Amino acid sequence: MLVLLQSDLSRQGVPTGAKGVCGSCQKPIAGKVVKALGCAWHPEHFVCARCGGELGGGSFFEKDGVPYCPRDYGRLFSPRGTPLGAMGTFCGALGEVEPSGRPWD
Ligand SMILES: [Zn+2]
Ligand SMILES: [Zn+2]
Repeated sequence: MLVLLQSDLSRQGVPTGAKGVCGSCQKPIAGKVVKALGCAWHPEHFVCARCGGELGGGSFFEKDGVPYCPRDYGRLFSPRGTPLGAMGTFCGALGEVEPSGRPWD
């Protein structure tokens, strides 16, 4: 009986071991998974909307539900602009900064 149940599940497209469906390609994620913005993502599919760089292993910023790497977010949305030389400080401050306006609300 148990065997029959399992084959039913796989026929319905529920792969055992899947950790979610990728928010980008809509395919099941079986290996490494990045959870962000309320979705699960393949690490290679959770990328900066501006430069396409993978964000899975590091920090990122969100604007209107779109993820950006800290470098591009600073360039695009920082009110005063973020000088290249201050990038280390900008990244290091991640988590302490209270974004004004909370764009995701
Ligand atoms: Zn994907
Ligand atoms: Zn970027």
